[in-house]
Amino acid sequence: MGVSQFARSISESPTMALNEQARMLREQGESIVHLGIGEPQNKAPQAAIDTAASALAGGKIKYTPTTGIPSFKKAVIRYTEENYGRTVSPKSVIVCAGAKQAIFNALWAILDPGDEVILLAPYWVSYPEMVKMCRAVPVVVTPADGTLTPSFDRIERAVTPRTRAIIVNSPNNPSGMVFSRDLVGELVRFCEERGIHAIMDDIYHKLVFDGVKAPSCYEFSTRDTNASSLIVVNGIAKTYGMTGFRIGWAIASQEIVSAMGTLQSQTTSCTSSLCQLAAQGAMLGPQDEVEGLRKSMEHNRDVIVAELAKVPGVSVIKPAGTFYCLPDFSGCFKAGIAKDSFELAMFLLSKVRVVTVPGRDFGLEGYLRLSYAGSTAEVLEGIDRIRWALDPAAPKEMRIGEKTVVRDWL
Ligand code: GLU
Repeated sequence: MGVSQFARSISESPTMALNEQARMLREQGESIVHLGIGEPQNKAPQAAIDTAASALAGGKIKYTPTTGIPSFKKAVIRYTEENYGRTVSPKSVIVCAGAKQAIFNALWAILDPGDEVILLAPYWVSYPEMVKMCRAVPVVVTPADGTLTPSFDRIERAVTPRTRAIIVNSPNNPSGMVFSRDLVGELVRFCEERGIHAIMDDIYHKLVFDGVKAPSCYEFSTRDTNASSLIVVNGIAKTYGMTGFRIGWAIASQEIVSAMGTLQSQTTSCTSSLCQLAAQGAMLGPQDEVEGLRKSMEHNRDVIVAELAKVPGVSVIKPAGTFYCLPDFSGCFKAGIAKDSFELAMFLLSKVRVVTVPGRDFGLEGYLRLSYAGSTAEVLEGIDRIRWALDPAAPKEMRIGEKTVVRDWL
């Protein structure tokens, strides 16, 4: 009662909902292994804490300009020059409450009701609902069977006169795939030629493994930022493990940034001043922790891929970046353990207390997303429990926290 039909038509974020479920179960004393949320467990960089602490001690925590504190925008511009080789004007930068809000504000600024936005499955869980919140229509392009990256041909075929944007997320959440230079190049050139916005969700661009570098959209852009339809989104959450600070940004033409600023001025006024300063501290301070975090994620990637190889009926394509993988669990459906990815995720949570996210929430049934952003010990324990739950040859009993669980389902 009292809730609009429209609000009821929007689903809750499954990653956030599962995170809360895991927290509550842990509070009740359950032995939970959390392979659900993409959240590194590191402490925030000292430079971030020090910068925020000195601002806090000063006591003057006030509004900032809507699009961000000038000194922080300078840090974003420097980051863009160093990491993307592109110089942008402060008027092309807007700071938002996380990359998530930057993506939403960008969509909100460009979409009219009925416009279409192409999403590349497997896509991040929040994209379709964000598009719907703008009264626009998500159009999903799926990859060929057995692959996790859509081909350019398939994307091109989904374009209609109503297509306003394509959201590109590489390195990809949930698959960990890094799109090839060819694909990124084709997409950028196509979008710039056709005036379609390519929203590049680059939040994982520094989290790449095996010496791979994620191709940058600017390498292929033939236009000045103001004449380009590219909208590049980034933030500090994943690179610095500063998820709770909620600081992200978008870089786009001044026209788009100005429209995003107008919307932001009427909703949040500005992003938290304290958190912008913390982000500035992190970005201008020593960068060794970034590499430390990346290396620990690469190690966890190696561990999870090796451990998953021992789980019967499961196969995985080795991720080249992020801290997620998307193993194919369809063998478990054939074995009758669950009928789909949602049921399997609930089964693993209830039987062995492992949190995963169903592939269906990423637009690809048959898979589960596993996050290896936590500790290596957690990754090992989680996959061990999953293997025990799915392997008829494993001993009948397993110790899970304080309890002994007897497998009566295989
Ligand atoms: N992006 C992370 C994830 O997919 C954080 C949770 C969220 O905001 O959805 O797990």
